[in-house]
Amino acid sequence: MTKHIAILGATGSIGKQTLEVVDANPDKFVVEVLTANNSVELLIEQARKYRPNVVVIGSKEKYPQLRDALENEPIKVYAGADAIAQVVQMSSIDIVVTAMVGYSGLLPTIKAIEAKKHIALANKETLVVAGEIIRELAMENGVNIYPVDSEHSAIFQCLMGEEQNPIEKIYLTASGGPFRGRNRKFLENVTAKQALKHPNWDMGAKITIDSATMMNKGFEAIEAKWLFDLHPRQVDVIVHRQSIVHSLVQFTDGSMKAQMGLPDMKLPIQFALTFPERLNTSFPRFNFLDYPELNFEPADPKTFRNLHLAYKAMEQGGNMPCIINAANEVVVDAFLKNKVGFLQMSDIIEQCMQKVNFIARPTYNDYVATDAETRQQVIAMI
Ligand code: MG
Repeated sequence: MTKHIAILGATGSIGKQTLEVVDANPDKFVVEVLTANNSVELLIEQARKYRPNVVVIGSKEKYPQLRDALENEPIKVYAGADAIAQVVQMSSIDIVVTAMVGYSGLLPTIKAIEAKKHIALANKETLVVAGEIIRELAMENGVNIYPVDSEHSAIFQCLMGEEQNPIEKIYLTASGGPFRGRNRKFLENVTAKQALKHPNWDMGAKITIDSATMMNKGFEAIEAKWLFDLHPRQVDVIVHRQSIVHSLVQFTDGSMKAQMGLPDMKLPIQFALTFPERLNTSFPRFNFLDYPELNFEPADPKTFRNLHLAYKAMEQGGNMPCIINAANEVVVDAFLKNKVGFLQMSDIIEQCMQKVNFIARPTYNDYVATDAETRQQVIAMI
C-alpha cells in the first residue's frame, strides 16, 4: 500500500526531513503535492526529483521563475495562499503534512480536513490558534490528526492500546534551549545569533527562537490540550536537557509511560505517516552507556515569561491563544531583525493580551480578525 502525500512547507526543516523519509521508503509513498512559501530554487529542485502532480509557491512574485523552470515537466504549477488551500483537497491525496510556519497553516489545514484528508500535523500554531474548531472539524469529518511534534508523537505512542484508560496527566519534556539556567539579567542582552544555537535540535529559525523563549513549550501545552482532550492542569512541563525522553503519560493508577530515543525528527514524521505500522530505519540507536545520567529539573516560567503567558492564555481560552500566537510571530520576526530585545518579546505579548478584544467563543472569522488586529497592535508598539 502506497500513501499519496501532500507536503505543505516542503522546503523547511520538517518538509526536507519528510522527503528523506520518502527517500528511505520509495515503495511506501508517492509525493502528490509540494508547496513552499518563498524558497523557489529548492522547490524547483524538489519538483524535478519527486515529480509531484502539483507544486505551489506561496509568494506570487516567484511564480514566473517556478513556471519557467518546470515548463517541460508534467507538473501543474500554481501560486498564492488560496492555491495552497485548494490543492490540499485533491482527490488523489491520502494525507497532508502541514509543515509550514505559523498562522498560515490554519486555512489549508481546515480545507484539508473538510476534504477528509488525514493530517500529519507539524504546524502547532494551527491548534494554538483554533484548536477547538480543528478538533470539532476533525471529528465531524472522521479525520485523524497524527502529531509530528516529537513530544506529542511520544504521548500518542504511549497512548496506543490505552484507549479505555483515562490520563491523569502528561509531562512534556523541554530541553530548555540555549539559555537554560540563565537569569533575566543575562537574557536582557542576548542576540538572535545566540538564541539560534539550539543544543539538541536543528530546526527552522522561528521555532528555534520559540524554544529559546520557551514559547514553543507553551504552544506545545496548548497543542496537547487539543490533541488529547486535556484540562490545562493535566499538562505539565519538565526540563530534560538531553532530549532523550520525548514526553510521558501518567495514568490514573499512577503508572507512567515514556517514549524515548535519540532526538531525530524523522522518527515522529515517519510514524505519523505510517501509523500504526513501524517501518525499519537505519537511524542511529540510543545507547544507555552514552547517557549514564538523564537529568530532570523544573521549568522556570518566572524567567521565561512566555511559558507563563501561554499557560495563562490556555486557561483563559477563547481567542487568547490566537492573540499570543499573532503577537509572538511578529515579535520573533522583529527579534531576528534586532528590532526588539529578548525580554521585550514577552512584554509586548503580555500587552497584547490586555489590549486586544477578548472573544470567549470565537468563530473562524473572529480568529482572522484577532490575528490581524494583534499584528497591527504589535507593529504600532515596535
Ligand atoms: Mg516539539
